Amino acid sequence: MLIRVKELELRKLEFNQTFPPGAVEFGPDFRQIGDLHAAGRAELIVEHHGHHQDVDDIRVVGKLGTQIEVLCARCLEPVVHKVAWDFDLLYRPQGVDRRGEEVSISEAETEIGYYQGEGLLLEDVLREQVLLATPLKTVCREDCKGLCPSCGHNLNQEQCGCEQRTGDPRWAALGDIKNKLQS
Ligand SMILES: [Zn+2]
Ligand SMILES: [Zn+2]
Repeated sequence: MLIRVKELELRKLEFNQTFPPGAVEFGPDFRQIGDLHAAGRAELIVEHHGHHQDVDDIRVVGKLGTQIEVLCARCLEPVVHKVAWDFDLLYRPQGVDRRGEEVSISEAETEIGYYQGEGLLLEDVLREQVLLATPLKTVCREDCKGLCPSCGHNLNQEQCGCEQRTGDPRWAALGDIKNKLQS
């Protein structure tokens, strides 16, 4: 759904939409499970920069909900991550900040992005927010044992026959120091 500046000049745009898996592209590491639901509104915020210098910003406020499947950072098994996320975003026209003008809205208040041409794709906004809402490192469970470093076996399922590495390398380093002190 394209949020057009021209339409926002007339009225605020309310949205309440459901996107099936595939409607928003997430890349190879993320899989959307079930629908993505997004509701909110888009409005035009005009910044006045002196004479005839108006900047049309698009503000998008709303919330989204979906489920994303990612791979456990330790054992690489799929994990379903529930996303429920509120957002309040400001998009400025691409290039406007390169004219050397002061940005009047501090970045702390709202996150600032950029749009090109006549408007902004809601799908692009949602993709970015879902990626932000999903932790970079998800584990299937707190005590996930991960994969055996030697044979790659999933240690949550069963112990492999590989010999366990003896000790922590940090302790080994301490042992070296101790040996030196004693000699
Ligand atoms: Zn795991
Ligand atoms: Zn092993």
